[in-house]
Amino acid sequence: MQSDLKFFYEQYLINCIGQQCAKTREHIDKYRAYFANNRHSSGFSDTWKQLTFALSANRSEGAYIYDLDGNKYLDITMGFGVHLFGHSPLFIKEAIVKQLEKGISLGPVHQDAAETAALICQLTNNERCAFFNSGTEAVMVALRLARAATGRSKIIIFEGAYHGTHDSLLAIKQHPVTKEAIGSIPGISPSLLQDTILLPFGKKESIDFIERHGSEIAAVLTEPVRSRYPEEVNPTFLHQLQQLCVANNICFILDEVITGFRVSNGGAKAVFGLDTDMVVYGKVLGGGLPIGVVAGKKKYLNYIDGGNWRFSDTSFPNSPTTFVAGTFCHHPLAMATSRATLLFLQANNNELQDTLNQKTTEFCRSINDFCQANRFPVQVDHFGSMFRLQVKGKNRILYHALLKEKIYIWEGRTCFLSGAHQPDDLDHLESAIKKSFVETRSAGFFAVIGPGEKIRHTNAFFLQTAFEVNEQLDISSIHFAFNFACETIQATNNINLQREFIFIPHPGSENTLHEIPRKKTADLRLIISYQGTKTLFQLQFSKIHFDGWSLNLFTQFLSNCFLSLEKGQPLPVNKFLPISFFEKWVNADPYKKSDLELFAASTIHLHLPVIKARYRGTLFEYLLSCFAISLGEGEFIIGVPVSGQLVSRYIRTVGACTCQVPLSLCITKKTTMPGLMSEVSNQLLKAKKDFRKFYNKEHQPYRIVFNMDDPGNNFSFANRQTTFVNSDDTHTCHDLVCNVMVEPGGLHVSVKYKQDAATSEKILNKFSKLLTQEHEDIFTYSK
Ligand code: PLP
Repeated sequence: MQSDLKFFYEQYLINCIGQQCAKTREHIDKYRAYFANNRHSSGFSDTWKQLTFALSANRSEGAYIYDLDGNKYLDITMGFGVHLFGHSPLFIKEAIVKQLEKGISLGPVHQDAAETAALICQLTNNERCAFFNSGTEAVMVALRLARAATGRSKIIIFEGAYHGTHDSLLAIKQHPVTKEAIGSIPGISPSLLQDTILLPFGKKESIDFIERHGSEIAAVLTEPVRSRYPEEVNPTFLHQLQQLCVANNICFILDEVITGFRVSNGGAKAVFGLDTDMVVYGKVLGGGLPIGVVAGKKKYLNYIDGGNWRFSDTSFPNSPTTFVAGTFCHHPLAMATSRATLLFLQANNNELQDTLNQKTTEFCRSINDFCQANRFPVQVDHFGSMFRLQVKGKNRILYHALLKEKIYIWEGRTCFLSGAHQPDDLDHLESAIKKSFVETRSAGFFAVIGPGEKIRHTNAFFLQTAFEVNEQLDISSIHFAFNFACETIQATNNINLQREFIFIPHPGSENTLHEIPRKKTADLRLIISYQGTKTLFQLQFSKIHFDGWSLNLFTQFLSNCFLSLEKGQPLPVNKFLPISFFEKWVNADPYKKSDLELFAASTIHLHLPVIKARYRGTLFEYLLSCFAISLGEGEFIIGVPVSGQLVSRYIRTVGACTCQVPLSLCITKKTTMPGLMSEVSNQLLKAKKDFRKFYNKEHQPYRIVFNMDDPGNNFSFANRQTTFVNSDDTHTCHDLVCNVMVEPGGLHVSVKYKQDAATSEKILNKFSKLLTQEHEDIFTYSK
């Protein structure tokens, strides 16, 4: 069944996203012949062919992007880390417009470039810097400067790091002995990798290697924290590298293309207190326009221009130089946006980054707590405001699920928060991530990890609801919807629910409820049977975790899930309230006035056409009074189940919130119906007020219990004609139980007496007689 559900869910996602991104996909197909773009076929597989494309957006603002279909996505790709301030911040827009008006002069060096360079050096504590067009280009130049200054050729890089697309750095494997890099990408000449040495990050063997070969190495190039492994934050290793570089006259280059200005104004260099020789910047610095910067000690930067000299004295460019150039190197727009970015950050004095880093920490902690509680094999790791969902096993499905929830994560999966992500956006993101975990697991992906809860033997007493839908419904949709609803409740209440799904395609006889032995451990089960052209649902819940109210909420949710699957739309969001809210309320003292008012509002009058009794008050009061009278003269304590959801304000709680409140009734010859009904009403009101006293109290179960359920006429499963089927709970721990189910045409009454059926019959007879007779002679039955 599980593997079928995986296929079912894949098809659902393909269908759902296919509809959602119809125009985008059409656009890509239309131009694919002309436009060679590896991102549109990245990770192509037969299964996911229909969903293999990079999102095409045409507008962005704040934390959101808009695709060609007009969908609005919460963006956590944020320009691969560029948009620290969110999309289109006003101060950047203004800088661009201002510069545009002045023109794009590329020949002369732009006036802003010099001031921008000074700002970079001041904020990052570097001596000099130079501008290029991208991170890749800046890394390439930094290596050239290092080789020029040291006269050596070998470069050390680390496994799993990314430094752009320069050929000599696209090394994926290493030679087992020489550690020389081996490129595994077609088109890279092996000779270009000869001088690249690939070592493991954070390992002693790397330190030993550099120590042994120090005299041949021009530069050690590293990201402070590799973006693919944000969990590996290792300042000790970085300091060891720095010391080795100093000792061996190696150039220590920090690639801060992602971390620069993002984790702090001074980047990771400042956070870790490093004294680097060169640092490479890009992304955030350009404020959305292309940029790459090499900054560092003059010993290296002087190889660009010969070093510092003045018109006013005899000084001259006395350092040897290498060659650097580029048509767009000080592009006026990029200079304007970089300058605006730096001025903003300078004035802001790290406040933005500190807040954002803190927000990211809290966000990741919250998701990790959730994953741990629900034993999802996922961990969210972060460094500053950069984070990654580290998912064990094949994880692509998760990103499709997130795209369906309108969360945009690019194919490389490194994510970023920005100053534009508001608390509401983060809440939305968190629930979408949680929902996607729950959803994918419902289809059988990302199995539970870690030791489970000790299996408890479930209470033998089950609640059951049964209804029949006027159509044969698709079984995979019901199964998946059931799994999703179960997983959703599990995640809401942090419990481990054992579920059972049973499908009977060809039942022996029609319209029969199935008495299938329950697994002792099952907390929830759904039995589906096709009854001719109809579908019969039998939903059973353990009373440990649920009550009748929850059963109704669950059924409604199941119906909504089924509808969404059918329409190829996103599944409904989880609006259930955790039981912990209710428990907090139930244990809170003193009672709040608002709770009492809420209760008063919940006593509504019901009308029942078939019972022509002239009662005043509620149907419940009337029925309970009749029931009490049918017991004969005497004093009775009758337990009445009250839904905690109704007396608290947590009506969307799924859990065992119902408790039986005791009504103490005395029936004598003088009892009148109006008098008894008002007594019931008063006692019920008081008991509901005192609900918290009764809930969770260790007490003997009441010997007599009266319960009324009124599911109403309005329920329809997945917009189909639906009828409730009576399903009595045959198990009880009470001596005498009376259950009344209000149905469209009348009442379904059941009385169960523990000792013998004859007494049940007798009480039921009296009860039904009372319900239909004139109240003046309520005691005629005893004559
Ligand atoms: N270095 C690092 C750490 C990067 O993450 C990147 C790009 O993501 C680069 C260098 C290359 O920068 P660009 O894409 O601007 O060439």
